[in-house]
Amino acid sequence: MKIERVETFVAKAALETPFYFSQSAFTERVVCLVKITDKDGAYGWGEVYGPPAVARAAIDWLAPLIIGGDPLQIETIWSELRKKIGVFGRSGVLVSAISAIDIALWDLRGKLLGQPVSALLGGRRRDQVKVYATGLYFTQTADLPGALADEARSYVAQGFSAMKMKIGLGIASDLQNVRAVRAAIGDDIDLMVDANCAYSLAEAARLAQLLEPYQIGWFEEPLSPEDYEGYRELRQRTTIPIAGGENEFLLAGFRRLLASRCVDIAQPDICGAGGLTECKRIATLASAFQINFTPHSWGTGVAFAAGLHLVSTLDVVPGRMRLPEPLLEFDRSENPLRDKLTRPRFAAVDGYVPVPTAPGLGIDVDMDYLLAHQL
Ligand SMILES: [Mg+2]
Repeated sequence: MKIERVETFVAKAALETPFYFSQSAFTERVVCLVKITDKDGAYGWGEVYGPPAVARAAIDWLAPLIIGGDPLQIETIWSELRKKIGVFGRSGVLVSAISAIDIALWDLRGKLLGQPVSALLGGRRRDQVKVYATGLYFTQTADLPGALADEARSYVAQGFSAMKMKIGLGIASDLQNVRAVRAAIGDDIDLMVDANCAYSLAEAARLAQLLEPYQIGWFEEPLSPEDYEGYRELRQRTTIPIAGGENEFLLAGFRRLLASRCVDIAQPDICGAGGLTECKRIATLASAFQINFTPHSWGTGVAFAAGLHLVSTLDVVPGRMRLPEPLLEFDRSENPLRDKLTRPRFAAVDGYVPVPTAPGLGIDVDMDYLLAHQL
């Protein structure tokens, strides 16, 4: 078994309705995928979380290290790639590049061995994964609270029992929006909020205090990801669990986040933090800190499949007889690439998505669609 080819693809799709979050607006979705093919034609797909054009250059730079290698020796390849990116790859897009390569190798390895990735990761603890709907972004509308309430009701109608909304527009506006969504969905649905690093410690502490009556499941990325001390202090000042990690990288990054007691929930992006290889290590580390692992997932079916396989192998901590289930993020915002680029198209039934059982990640890419949207 020998790796023969490493190819990168960057694809773009325009959005019908632009939306925004606390930092910027989206008018299109763009993704970088990597395809790794062995000498007999078997292939695996990986995906980058990060700037696609830069990631493509990084993967092209790393490709000679992989070509000729054995696709079953994933940790060996991962270590070589980590050594290559060196001190310039302690975080950021170079780590995203090796994440995508790693995911493609897991997909390929599964196909070569005739096993789903979940089995190779240690075995499924469940055949379907509980997901929460991510949506409830900001749009240009005269009545944002009303629009968010309608969207939240639509997720309940679709069977979701948990959802996450954006905040970060300012304390008064956030409070108004959360109030509208909570009133729309009632008390039995889990509701999480995500500020995408919009606030200072003082603002976040004040907002958390005001949000406490609304049964918030977690407050995600209240502060800048560099403000480790701020995260630690905020946790002492609110009863709402604090979540973060989509802007953290590698085991060493998560060691700092977890050992500093910054978060109650760790949210690495598998396509950014180091791939399935490193995120399995991060999940193990988190469990040793008694912190739950709920991956960030905001890409196509490749990224989501990687999340399904990994989360299917995890248990929440601490253990108890009536154990809640680990959660995976299920992005419901407009993304034609997520809906059309891969097969099968993932759908939640009663808030759960089945874990693919086909070899590898259990997905394939529609090459006609990919090439039609390629940059
Ligand atoms: Mg987030």
